[in-house]
Amino acid sequence: AKADRTGAYRFFDAGMDVLARRLMVLEADIRSGLSRGEFVLLYQPQLSLHTGRINGVEALVRWRQPDGNLIEPRDFLPLAEETGLIRPLGAWVLAEACRQAALWNPPGAPCFRVAVNISPLQLRGVDLIRLVQATLAETGLDPRCLDLEVTESAVIRDAEEVSRVLAQLRDIGLTISVDDFGTGYSALSYVKHLPLDRLKIDRSFVEGLKPANADAAIIAAIVTLGRNLRLEIAAEGVETEAQMRELAALGCDIVQGYHIGRPMTPKALAALIANHPNA
Ligand code: C2E
Ligand code: CA
Ligand code: CA
Ligand code: CA
Repeated sequence: AKADRTGAYRFFDAGMDVLARRLMVLEADIRSGLSRGEFVLLYQPQLSLHTGRINGVEALVRWRQPDGNLIEPRDFLPLAEETGLIRPLGAWVLAEACRQAALWNPPGAPCFRVAVNISPLQLRGVDLIRLVQATLAETGLDPRCLDLEVTESAVIRDAEEVSRVLAQLRDIGLTISVDDFGTGYSALSYVKHLPLDRLKIDRSFVEGLKPANADAAIIAAIVTLGRNLRLEIAAEGVETEAQMRELAALGCDIVQGYHIGRPMTPKALAALIANHPNA
């Protein structure tokens, strides 16, 4: 029994070692991937249900490895967040999205908005404000064309500190959206204390949406809340025409999902907009 226990322990130990080593390799790879320019952004269209036009995009990061493999955020963002690498990676994402959006927004044209995801770690501390200011100045992007998506869980934690940061960001002229809205299970009271522009209803409520079912009731309640607080309502994960119709009927302002378009390159986006019925 003793030998077994020792053997099992040794095996467990070796297992941890392998995992730790793999994480270290991945961390080093993310670092070198950043310096080699291996990260790319795809842009997923957002459709206004009022005008029927694509009026903006969400920037979503991908890691293009030397072998051409495209790695999804879920396979590297958690570690990037844990190791703090999300700071340089997030700074790159912001700069690249603003650079691209500046090309889409020549002076004087109506805003074609770009939404950038801000990680919980980025949200903490004053350096985000300086980073955003510097990036806007460098790229020349009109602040009104930039939207920052912050997750509900990040906002609930540290609500007071976050509120100060969001207020200063909004003073710059950009907008703030609460991502994954409805998944926090917390009291909704925080929403009224925060300087916000938009609630983005989580995909989980859109998935099972049918006329008059429970998801429809939740979305209707969110829309009512948003109207009263003068917030725009967006919905993500819209995969079917039926879901889009139902969201329109419930009073949503903006929809995003595979039904409108997948995350795509700027070139593919230009083609989609050119072929769009309301373009
Ligand atoms: P998210 O912010 O909720 O982004 C939406 C995710 O849903 C994206 O996954 C998108 O490709 C996917 N999606 C869009 N439409 C549909 C649909 O109709 N059906 C389904 N099933 N999925 C849809 P993606 O690109 O893999 O990103 C996953 C998450 O990674 C994002 O969730 C976001 O939290 C995070 N993320 C992505 N890019 C960045 C980034 O640049 N910075 C930070 N901090 N986080 C990012
Ligand atoms: Ca998002
Ligand atoms: Ca989301
Ligand atoms: Ca989500």
